[in-house]
Amino acid sequence: MIFYSLNKKAPDVDFQYAAVHGQAPDKGLYFPSIIPQLSKSFIDDLANKSKVEIGVEVMTPYVSGSIPKDELERIVSETVDFDFPLVKIDNYISSLELFHGPTMAFKDVGARFMSRCLGFFNKNNSNKTTVLVATSGDTGGAVANGFLGVEGVEVVILYPKGKVSPIQELQLTTCGQNIKALEIDGVFDDCQAIVKQAFMDEDLNKKMVLTSANSINIARWLPQQLYYFFAYQQWVKDNDEAPVVCVPSGNFGNICAGILANASGLPIKHFLAATNVNDEIPKFFQSGKYAPQKAVPTISNAMDVGDPSNFVRIMEIFQQDFPALKHKVSSVSVSDEETKATIAEVYSRTNYILDPHGAVAYKALSDFQKANNDKGFILETAHPVKFPDVVEEVIGKKIPIPEKAQYLLNRKKEAVELPAEFKAVKDWLLKSL
Ligand SMILES: *Cc1c(COP(=O)(O)O)cnc(C)c1O
Repeated sequence: MIFYSLNKKAPDVDFQYAAVHGQAPDKGLYFPSIIPQLSKSFIDDLANKSKVEIGVEVMTPYVSGSIPKDELERIVSETVDFDFPLVKIDNYISSLELFHGPTMAFKDVGARFMSRCLGFFNKNNSNKTTVLVATSGDTGGAVANGFLGVEGVEVVILYPKGKVSPIQELQLTTCGQNIKALEIDGVFDDCQAIVKQAFMDEDLNKKMVLTSANSINIARWLPQQLYYFFAYQQWVKDNDEAPVVCVPSGNFGNICAGILANASGLPIKHFLAATNVNDEIPKFFQSGKYAPQKAVPTISNAMDVGDPSNFVRIMEIFQQDFPALKHKVSSVSVSDEETKATIAEVYSRTNYILDPHGAVAYKALSDFQKANNDKGFILETAHPVKFPDVVEEVIGKKIPIPEKAQYLLNRKKEAVELPAEFKAVKDWLLKSL
């Protein structure tokens, strides 16, 4: 597969180049030159296929020329070796639970796939790659876990001091080995700004191979298509019509992967992109004008994004045709008050505990259904135990920590505390790696 830069001022590249470099030299996002079309027989037979068969079929065209089939099979089977259950919340709305992976967030799929791709590419290469990533909570844990022990790759995670939940902090800071955590005295935007500056710093880039691990990287973005297929496998057992799918969105990488799966042939009736009050995309759908904003902090903090990177990819899938986009996708914004009220209402009516991100999606989908009467599902992107302050207060009880996360409680945090200054981080990188 050939990938081109959406800024169209950089050379075309293959999967390996795009995965290793993240962003194109013209600062554009990479995009596949063809959207692969899956056969009707493959779609009709999805319910009978294993997760690995689906993963290999969907990913083969994208990695062709860079990863041989047997390696892809290994990478996919290591990536999706946990459950993706579609759970009925009530008669109209189901929840695709994406939190059964090692760090209890959907980002595990992308992070695991990407880490294994880089590990494979590094096999015949003596250069060390350094993955530099800023996190508001979930990305850091998924990347740390995904890259732990991958040879030839050092991971440095910047997180804002005091702004991630206790479980998230343990996931980031207790891995050891090739994973280093920097506790930055500032907010998420400071961490993000420092990482961006590092990628532009000539001196640093001469001394080390730096790459990003956020959803602009195709090796993290593309495999997110898979769980839409896993959901559909389960959906067709109980339903004749294609689902409406609601995705809680921040950088819009997750929903963009779903839209890509649909463009490849997966039946989905409509997409709903639910945001919190960081509503530049809902506003864009209304006015046709895009205006980035400064991100406002909310209780669904993994979606506090003021200028979503992946929206340009969604526009490209629709070939910049705004009416066609609006026909397939809608976007709405949900406030913190509505989010809390939704967690409370759904819990008291059904006993199902939503996390704040899933609750944003539930509220958006249930309002959409009142007008349209279609059945569908939300993506439940994280386990509620990762956001205990909000959820436990609303439902009035403690959420038990799942067994597979209990080991974290005995671990000791290891992080280097630094001021929110690029120079401090740069000096640390040069000295420590
Ligand atoms: C990252 C994240 C999101 C947002 O996903 P995007 O791909 O950035 O739109 C939503 N919910 C949770 C829990 C997340 O960690």
